[in-house]
Amino acid sequence: MRRRGLLIILSSPSGAGKSSLAKRLMAWDPSLKFSVSATTRQPRPGEVDGVDYYFKSHEEFEKLIADGGMLEHAEVFGNYYGSPQGPIDEAIAEGRDTIFDIDWQGGQQIRRSKLAQDVVSIFILPPSIADLESRLRGRAQDSDEVIEKRMSQSRNEISHWAEYDYVIVNRDLDKAEEELKTILTAERARASRQPQLTEFVRGLNKEFEDR
Ligand code: GDP
Ligand code: ADP
Repeated sequence: MRRRGLLIILSSPSGAGKSSLAKRLMAWDPSLKFSVSATTRQPRPGEVDGVDYYFKSHEEFEKLIADGGMLEHAEVFGNYYGSPQGPIDEAIAEGRDTIFDIDWQGGQQIRRSKLAQDVVSIFILPPSIADLESRLRGRAQDSDEVIEKRMSQSRNEISHWAEYDYVIVNRDLDKAEEELKTILTAERARASRQPQLTEFVRGLNKEFEDR
């Protein structure tokens, strides 16, 4: 029997470091899968369709929802964002852990779904609001207007921090990465998540009997 894949949910206000941390986690463990979301927002320079997001029109997105193709979806900053269901079912069955970079609304929907047992949710806090703003500006990918919209939403996003299993303050990226790896290592080692050990312990018992 194989371990079921985990759904690792990362949420934070925009600019707190979710994407940077998700990339580092995937470099550390290439078996991790990233849940590529669908969105109606415009691609940023350098973003690739099917890699960063599936870029969809409003109509296409609404059809995906109507067809039951989304595990969760929400409106964030005036656009639709959602996690396609298909790749997630595959990953769970294969025992592969999947990272989700989604907002609190998506986190809540998945935690309340039938997949709740497979969820490990982590909220990333910025060390200060001034840092959050300078990170958003430093990323230099959004207009002033977009940055202001994101900053105005960040208080609301942060208000959901205590709904998560774990919280990391991303002051130093290396330290935050270490904390994240530690969480994942511990969650993978939970007895309830290791059904393959039943067989393993049977082998140990056989060894006892054969002594
Ligand atoms: P960025 O996170 O600042 O780089 O900006 P994005 O436009 O890429 O994402 C905006 C917000 O939407 C972030 O809070 C993401 O976590 C969230 N988001 C991305 N994909 C999804 C999704 O599939 N579902 C939900 N509910 N939120 C998402
Ligand atoms: P999010 O995905 O949460 O919107 P990003 O990972 O894109 O955030 O990070 C926003 C910006 O802040 C990026 O330019 C990133 O390099 C930078 N950043 C992330 N973590 C840190 C950190 N601990 N210290 C300084 N800069 C950081």
